[in-house]
Amino acid sequence: MASMFKNQTPQQLSLIAAFTSATTITLVVFALGLAGLFTLSWQGLAVLFLVIMGTDFLANFFFVRYYIFRKIKLIYKVIHRHKLSPDFKADKIQMDHHILDDVEREVDQWAEQHDRELEALEKLATYRRRFIGDVSHELKTPIFNIQGFIHTLLDGAIHDPAVNTQYLQRAAKNADRLEAIVDDLETINKLESGQMVLDLRDFDIRDLTDEVFSDLEMKAKARNIRLTYKEGANQHFHVRADKEGIRQVLINLIQNSIKYGREGGVTKVSLYDMETYILLEVSDNGIGVQPEHLPHVFDRFFRADKSRSREAGGTGLGLSIVKHIIEAHKQTINVRSTPGQGSTFGLTLEKA
Ligand code: ADP
Repeated sequence: MASMFKNQTPQQLSLIAAFTSATTITLVVFALGLAGLFTLSWQGLAVLFLVIMGTDFLANFFFVRYYIFRKIKLIYKVIHRHKLSPDFKADKIQMDHHILDDVEREVDQWAEQHDRELEALEKLATYRRRFIGDVSHELKTPIFNIQGFIHTLLDGAIHDPAVNTQYLQRAAKNADRLEAIVDDLETINKLESGQMVLDLRDFDIRDLTDEVFSDLEMKAKARNIRLTYKEGANQHFHVRADKEGIRQVLINLIQNSIKYGREGGVTKVSLYDMETYILLEVSDNGIGVQPEHLPHVFDRFFRADKSRSREAGGTGLGLSIVKHIIEAHKQTINVRSTPGQGSTFGLTLEKA
């Protein structure tokens, strides 16, 4: 019996209810007739049936429609954030449709979307917590160092010519590190909040690499590292990208190849024309990255060797900035590395 009412439209339900009432009353009147208490002709019974069926159907129809309207209005008020249109009246309820199924579907969709929003918010909250934790952890070290040197100087070391200048220099170096971290954090913040609008232009990536090579020449010389091109890269490649963003990418990658390169080694930049894009690779023959560290090199504040990175003035944010910039261009970056032999960072750029 229940299954009979399972998938009916409200209009069909009103009809079934009216039919049931009309049949019951007609049968009762017929039974009264049999008992000799009240007699109606066949025509009379038929008219009685039709009148009850008609009035009951109309009463059910309008009552059910109003009932559904009130309930749906309440549900829509909860699930739709916007105000319901004043045009949404009881007569808008389509009684010959599976209206409750439609509402159920909409509520399910709403619940699903709500779940997704909650998940995204939770992810964001975790991200924020971790970010603040990482940042305060990173800022602590230089702050403690600065404090240490200044207090030691104030406690008397300032009058000791053997250490006073050295302590001040170390305090200054830590202050520089603080500034570098804050600068990189600002860049990451801009990239992540989408504030960094890409200024896409056509330019020669080979010329830009030349500029970065000459800017980093002194740093490379200090470690006796040669900055060169692989054969085949000695030509011009036109790309479409944000020039200053890509300059930052090249600086970070080439600087890393100097920091983690072998003393007296070589940094090579390769450029390949791959039909639809340009592939740029920065290779060094330095310390390389252990395989277990490789998946994390683009993570914020990740350093395989903390003291070496700090000594070289690293913030642990360089590669994470590189990845953000490349992904903002909808391009890819990857790394191959063999410990003791060197690393290659490869990225793609849109061809102009
Ligand atoms: P950092 O400021 O420490 O250099 P990065 O984000 O630029 O931060 O790099 C993260 C870590 O990845 C580095 O600390 C280092 O351990 C590793 N790394 C990056 N580039 C190289 C490279 N060319 N050779 C070896 N290790 C590298």
